[in-house]
Amino acid sequence: MEAAQAIKNEKQIVVALAGNPNSGKTTIFNSLTGAHQHVGNWPGVTVEKKEGQLVSEGKVIRVVDLPGTYSLGAYSEDEAVARDYILFEKPDVVINIIDATNLERNLYLTTQLLEMGSNLVIALNMSDELKAKQIDINAARFSELLGVPAIRTVGTRGQGTKELVAQALQAAGNKNPRVVQINYGKEVETELAALEQDILSNRQLVENFAPRWLAVKVLEGDQGVLKRLAKYPGLERLLARRAEAVKRLEGLLGEDIESLLADKRYGFIGGLAKEVMTRRQTTEERLSRSDKIDRIVTNRYLGIPIFLFAMWAIFQFTFTVGDPFIGWIETFFEWFGGVTGAWLESAGMPGLLMSLIVDGIIGGVGSVLVFIPNIFLLFFAISLLEDSGYMARAAFIMDRLMHALGLHGKSFIPLLIGFGCNVPAVMATRTLENKRDRLITILITPLMSCTARLPVYILFAGAFFTANQGLVIFSLYLLGLALAILMGMLFKRFLFKGETSHFVMELPPYRVPTLKSTFIHMWEKGSSFIRKAGTIIFAVVVLVWALSNLPVGVEYASQDSILGWIGSFVAPIFKPAGFGTWEAAVALVFGILAKEVVVGTLGVIYGAEEAGLTAAIAQAWTPLSAYAFMVMTLLYIPCAAVIGTIKRETNSWTWTAFAVAYTLVLGWLMAVLVYQFGRLLGLG
Ligand code: GDP
Ligand code: MG
Repeated sequence: MEAAQAIKNEKQIVVALAGNPNSGKTTIFNSLTGAHQHVGNWPGVTVEKKEGQLVSEGKVIRVVDLPGTYSLGAYSEDEAVARDYILFEKPDVVINIIDATNLERNLYLTTQLLEMGSNLVIALNMSDELKAKQIDINAARFSELLGVPAIRTVGTRGQGTKELVAQALQAAGNKNPRVVQINYGKEVETELAALEQDILSNRQLVENFAPRWLAVKVLEGDQGVLKRLAKYPGLERLLARRAEAVKRLEGLLGEDIESLLADKRYGFIGGLAKEVMTRRQTTEERLSRSDKIDRIVTNRYLGIPIFLFAMWAIFQFTFTVGDPFIGWIETFFEWFGGVTGAWLESAGMPGLLMSLIVDGIIGGVGSVLVFIPNIFLLFFAISLLEDSGYMARAAFIMDRLMHALGLHGKSFIPLLIGFGCNVPAVMATRTLENKRDRLITILITPLMSCTARLPVYILFAGAFFTANQGLVIFSLYLLGLALAILMGMLFKRFLFKGETSHFVMELPPYRVPTLKSTFIHMWEKGSSFIRKAGTIIFAVVVLVWALSNLPVGVEYASQDSILGWIGSFVAPIFKPAGFGTWEAAVALVFGILAKEVVVGTLGVIYGAEEAGLTAAIAQAWTPLSAYAFMVMTLLYIPCAAVIGTIKRETNSWTWTAFAVAYTLVLGWLMAVLVYQFGRLLGLG
């Protein structure tokens, strides 16, 4: 007996972090586990649960960061993820992270966790901001009223997290947590008691759910829960009893059952908040700094121009600061290629192997690595906007516009994420409750210009538009965004008719981002680019190099190589777009594997030439065909990783194929349009 007990105690403890979006879950998760998960300032960043570990008092604690949710009624997929985890994986302890500056709204989730009978520990987070707002929450009283430990924390500074762990460890030993019951009033309670009786007589149900909680959920008619119950025997009887109860209550109280229950919960919350909260600033409620900024930034007329200006400023920053680096790195790789070549030759290395290293790897991968500073600078700027809270405003402003156009405002969040990388952007569509809105958003997200396209723009803009690089690249990002919205409207109109639901965009207060966190986020995003350069880009570049040398004996990277055949086969399609060379065609073909490879392929083909890549491009394209080529690169076929993600998220080959096909057609059409129109205007 005792030995068994000891083993059980040594078992690891599972602690789940639950809370509203933006309450600081990820921040606390990072502080607890030493991880560097992305901390975002808007809902939808953490769509999947993340896991980490820590050791305290000799015990291994597994920490799970759940997606942020406002409630546990599975209306959206991230809510379902959070709820199913708590319900079915049964973590030992749930730490409910509350944004204490928004106590009442956050407590809605808390009431649901309490009702579920979870082993709760509450973190009253953002207590630094609470102080700044001159509000006091009596944590001891709070804890007493709910019967669960409550600790004040400041996630960003790691304050209170030790205490949180200690309380969680203690709570883990508590096998019978006190379950706070909201009193729903005499009439409702009578019906609940009857339902609970019914549930208690069903052994299988009792084993899996807290009876009182289940009774409430059944009465409420929670579809997610009812679906889960489908496999249990005796469900019909329960549902019949529910139908009777609902009819009686609605007749008696004159309101639908959902609002009846919600009203009681809000009443409970309002009362609780009043009990524990004291405001020091009652007479003149000053307009907070955030509100003042928002008056301008989210202004009906100024909002969109300010957003566009912010985007423009980002690109200007990326180029002005990044430009000198490009030259230096280019010079470095030229020098490095030359020196390596000479050294390998003197060492007696066979010509073919030398060409692989110098033309293939240094020329191909090197041509992509040149843009690392720009990519990091862009991510730095994006992280800065995210962490400050501005991105949430951008989504808020666009929500109005999107809604006016019949699109769901929440779609804009994935689109914004798409500026970084389309893969997490497609995944972020999970926050859209409605399947139709979600599918539309998935289809249009690949039109957002991710950073992998950036090397192509910089290379071509550097060759042709030196004076206006920032502006040219800004125009491409804008084109992607405009086409995404336009295509969304078309899809909505012709493929998925129906109403769009409304949503309320949360506006977190502005925060001055710390340089450290901005650098961490920049690194998180940017380092994946370096990893990519070492793996997929490397592999594809070697493949391209090999195809440039086959069949055996062919002149390197000539039209007679296999690479040349592939390019020549595809090239005629692009004639009307002004870049009908086999080199351009083959770069686009291999660019499907990863868009950076467009540059990598050109590096392999042209890099071997005396004058270098930029000069070769200046020869083979005109400014007009270069712009058309950039438009094509922006729009045509998402990269392999995004295609895979679309398949996974839509679970449909048909929609995946559709995404590939329509972007190809759209890209081609737009490139041709740009070129032909430009020629009409005499720009060609
Ligand atoms: P999550 O989405 O709920 O996981 O929330 P995050 O961890 O992403 O945090 C949202 C924002 O709140 C980030 O900008 C954090 O830096 C910030 N934050 C988190 N905890 C605190 C805190 O205790 N005080 C202050 N002032 N900011 C915090
Ligand atoms: Mg998070």
